[in-house]
Amino acid sequence: MSKLGCRCGHVIVDQTDSLPYKASLLRDEAENAFWEEVHHELKPLMEAAESGDKAAIADAYGELAPWVNATDELESRISSIHAQRMSTVYECPICGRLWVQKDGSSKFFSYVPDEGGYRAILSVASGDSEHFD
Ligand SMILES: [Zn+2]
Repeated sequence: MSKLGCRCGHVIVDQTDSLPYKASLLRDEAENAFWEEVHHELKPLMEAAESGDKAAIADAYGELAPWVNATDELESRISSIHAQRMSTVYECPICGRLWVQKDGSSKFFSYVPDEGGYRAILSVASGDSEHFD
């Protein structure tokens, strides 16, 4: 998703990270599966790390991968789980409509706030959208 045309005429642009008008939605029905999948990926690495067994890490995360590649592989797998289980929500920064992605679809459905206008409801509480790496 890179652009979504809101009913108010504004085009919601999604082409960078840390947007204050975007959030991920994890449905309650998918939460257990999400965490089971994350734990499934973390468990062999954590067990191998605790034992110091690099061969076990290589077994779990590909050939004779050095530690940094195992980390990259783990990040990739968890990002994939996140992308698969999460839906996207946008708040139009002009009219405040929420646009919620239907599960398993690229379609979005809109919901209008009782009182009009943007409320930054998807922004972090501090209102600070700076991204620190
Ligand atoms: Zn709008």
